[in-house]
Amino acid sequence: MIIVMNSHAPQAAIDRVVNEVQRMGCQPHLSQGRFRTVIGAVGEEGLIDQNHLASLDGVEKVVPIMKPYKLASREFHEDDTVVEIGGGSVPKVKIGANHAACIAGPCAVENKEMLNRIARHVRDGGATMLRGGVYKPRTSPYSFQGLGAEALEWMRECGNELGMPICIEVMDTRQVEQMEKYVDCFQIGARNMQNFDLLREVGKTRKPVLLKRGFAATVKDWLLSAEYVLSQGNRNVVLCERGIKTFEDSVRYTLDITSIPVALGWTHLPIIVDPSHAAGKRDYVPSIAAAGMAAGAHGIIVEVHYCPSEAQCDGAQALLPETFRDLMVQLHKIAAIFNKEFAESAEPVRT
Ligand code: PEP
Ligand code: MN
Repeated sequence: MIIVMNSHAPQAAIDRVVNEVQRMGCQPHLSQGRFRTVIGAVGEEGLIDQNHLASLDGVEKVVPIMKPYKLASREFHEDDTVVEIGGGSVPKVKIGANHAACIAGPCAVENKEMLNRIARHVRDGGATMLRGGVYKPRTSPYSFQGLGAEALEWMRECGNELGMPICIEVMDTRQVEQMEKYVDCFQIGARNMQNFDLLREVGKTRKPVLLKRGFAATVKDWLLSAEYVLSQGNRNVVLCERGIKTFEDSVRYTLDITSIPVALGWTHLPIIVDPSHAAGKRDYVPSIAAAGMAAGAHGIIVEVHYCPSEAQCDGAQALLPETFRDLMVQLHKIAAIFNKEFAESAEPVRT
């Protein structure tokens, strides 16, 4: 249910509605729009006394949210959300509305030297945030599983040194507390998109969450997963389309371009694309990234390696640093056509 306040409702009237919603056993969530405040009352159906709320001072109307996801819907929050990642030891990077961002780095952190080298390449090429897995979700238990805590430290040091917020995948509820001290953004991988306990746990923090779409999940499932995070009070969710399973086997997954305009219509949350995991092959990465931006995405997350044949994980899809640099030049131009601007990187990109 949403309670729409009229445009000149005083703060006292808003506070009163919030109290009444709590008294009915629901959680109030405020959305401050350009013209009015909307209060979302989230909880079990049947708890809300709609007529009572509608009779309160300053209330324009009380309407049910028709979508199954509530806080993620445009009905609750009309304007695009801008998520800010970083701050403190690194600059803040904005994603959403007309702000685009590029997260780049290795699939997995393999050692300190390679991380520092790749991080410099991606910063110089125009990335504004650094990625690098330290706990890896591998299909085989015998494949490289990531270096864990040690690599977390290296990522933090490297991000601080280069002025780049860091984004790292969290795989388990037991890692959240430890990782919260290091990361600027939690990544929830495709395989964990419906790990509801994990979603709730990162939802209890106030760190931004990059939520990948599961490869067998509908856009609705994806937004319901975002709702798990939002329902815990964490408003900082960035969606990431990374490809779904189809019958096509020429690529690893099929990047569902359509999901971008669909999701942008249904939700106010920002969306980026991951062309690396969709393609599985570096040759296809630039076109898929460009198509994602043209479809309305707010940026990309992409894997880069200076020597992909040595990579412990996903070498075939890693872009070489020079290709990454060229891609960023192209993406800056596409972003400009669609009225978006990439955040300034420490080293300006040649356009
Ligand atoms: C990754 O980003 O390294 C990754 C494993 O991605 P996904 O969860 O999309 O497969
Ligand atoms: Mn990878």
